[in-house]
Amino acid sequence: MSEILLVGEVNGGNLAEATAELIAHGKPLAESLTSSISVALLDQDSTSAAQEAISQGADKVYNIKDSLLGTYQTDAYLASLAKLIQEINPIAVLISKTEIGADIGARLAFRVDTGIVQDCIEVSVNSDNKIQANRPVFGGNCMATVVCESTPMMALIRPKTKEALEADTSRSGDVVDYNADLDESVIKNQVVERVEEVQEGIRLEDAARIVGGGRGMNGPEPFDNELKDLADTMGAAIGASRAAVDIGWVPYSYQIGLTGKKVAPDLYLLVGISGASQHMAGCSGSKNLVAINKDPDANIFRDARFGVVGDWEKVLPALTQQLKELM
Ligand SMILES: Cc1cc2nc3c(=O)[nH]c(=O)nc-3n(C[C@H](O)[C@H](O)[C@H](O)COP(=O)(O)OP(=O)(O)OC[C@H]3O[C@@H](n4cnc5c(N)ncnc54)[C@H](O)[C@@H]3O)c2cc1C
Repeated sequence: MSEILLVGEVNGGNLAEATAELIAHGKPLAESLTSSISVALLDQDSTSAAQEAISQGADKVYNIKDSLLGTYQTDAYLASLAKLIQEINPIAVLISKTEIGADIGARLAFRVDTGIVQDCIEVSVNSDNKIQANRPVFGGNCMATVVCESTPMMALIRPKTKEALEADTSRSGDVVDYNADLDESVIKNQVVERVEEVQEGIRLEDAARIVGGGRGMNGPEPFDNELKDLADTMGAAIGASRAAVDIGWVPYSYQIGLTGKKVAPDLYLLVGISGASQHMAGCSGSKNLVAINKDPDANIFRDARFGVVGDWEKVLPALTQQLKELM
């Protein structure tokens, strides 16, 4: 039985959330094609992550081992994954569009001589029993359905486009140690230093509630004052549009959208954000969008579940005050 291979990631010894989501994407494909789900893990510290992958729905985990596989190195990851793919010949390879996934996706496809569908939000099996992928195009204004004719079919899938399945710790699966047997000469580029950005408060990607500000905030101060006050009251993380980031009001780590973070909170309150398709590409998985915008014709009101037409300078203090009284 040919397998569907997922490129997994490990964060601090645990299975990355994006990999759990990737398993949820792969599972229906495996069922339709009577195939199985295998996850490749390249972290040295992946023992518990392997079991987590199985609980999340994987049938097999390849624990790829090599002394050259420590911290993420493009060339070492590429060589190991290409070797595994050539050996097991999967029908499809799914990769999450994380920093690592985006870095290796196209390179890996080139190495194993196949095509890759970039930036997908959904994969499925069509009536010809072929795997197809849906991806937003033209800034999210249209959807393209792409069928990959070459094998293995490869897709880079946006995180936060599918919820991870409920973990079932009673599931069992195979954990196979796979020796990548890398030669040092494969390493052409070296990561010399990693600088982790210090994260204050709730991580945007994990937040259940987000308050986002755009160009309509009219300066950096409201992010530190009115927006922060509301976010603290709601227990929310603060995000921003690219316009607010490009002007320099907040750092890039705040940016939500096509070229920023992908978020899927229960509640996303957008303040002074017009709702451009590139912004919405990063928050389409949000359960409830609430907008405050002074322009009644702003695009955001087409997507928002609730909206307030008004100047945030008047609306925000009143809203925050009301929430404080209710909490
Ligand atoms: C390839 C590409 C990638 C991109 N990637 C991203 C991305 O990842 N994320 C992203 O956000 N954008 C992205 N963009 C940019 C995107 O197209 C928009 O330009 C951007 O999202 C606009 O940001 P904004 O809504 O804050 O600003 P604007 O479009 O200028 O909107 C500001 C809004 O604030 C409202 N407003 C003004 N004053 C007030 C007030 N006092 N009270 C209430 N409302 C007020 C206005 O009515 C307006 O609707 C990308 C663009 C391209 C071409």
